[in-house]
Amino acid sequence: MNPQFTQLTLRAELQSALSKAGFSRMTPIQLQSLPELLAGKDVVAQAKTGSGKTLAFSLAMLQSLVVQASHIQGLILVPTRELANQVAEEVRKLAKDLGNVKVLTICGGEPIGPQISSLEHGAHVVVGTPGRVEEHLFKGTLDLTQVSHFTLDEADQMLEMGFVDAIENIAVYLPPARQTMMFSATYPKDIEQLSARFMQSPILVKGETET
Ligand code: ADP
Ligand code: MG
Repeated sequence: MNPQFTQLTLRAELQSALSKAGFSRMTPIQLQSLPELLAGKDVVAQAKTGSGKTLAFSLAMLQSLVVQASHIQGLILVPTRELANQVAEEVRKLAKDLGNVKVLTICGGEPIGPQISSLEHGAHVVVGTPGRVEEHLFKGTLDLTQVSHFTLDEADQMLEMGFVDAIENIAVYLPPARQTMMFSATYPKDIEQLSARFMQSPILVKGETET
């Protein structure tokens, strides 16, 4: 059996959230990636769908989140609105014991006005689709200058959907001193190239891959 989360040096508020959610043992990809992520390394993680990737990058981000600071500290890019909602829910659940952590979804196909007012009220974490995040950056309605954790979830799908230019444009707005995490079900050549552009000596970890 895989080791338990209690073996990781996670803040107590995250350990309690994990046990309340009923998560006790790490999945293979969590076991491989979390020690590297918690050490602050850039990580490219490849593992099949359903292997628990969301929990891995969410824990790494929340471990160093400062609730008292109201600026955006985590940016998670995802390919679709459905996934944005799902990821935001999981982050909120894990963050419950940390206090009032504000997680916003910023996706295309929705009116931009309400997103602008939500952003004006401040957020700790933004989960969004690349096109709309880019649009806010160009308009000056999204401040990513203090992001410490940048995640690309379902990176292979985002590339397939043609989001590469948007991702490149977004990266320009992020501080160079940050942790970058890339999660993908597959590891094609273009993912490798993308990681070389955005990440600092990334560590490649593999869980169970698609057969
Ligand atoms: P992926 O992004 O790799 O496709 P998800 O992060 O969506 O997978 O996780 C798939 C499911 O597994 C979710 O319902 C999640 O809550 C659950 N899960 C994640 N980690 C664990 C764990 N360590 N123990 C039990 N269930 C877990
Ligand atoms: Mg996923």
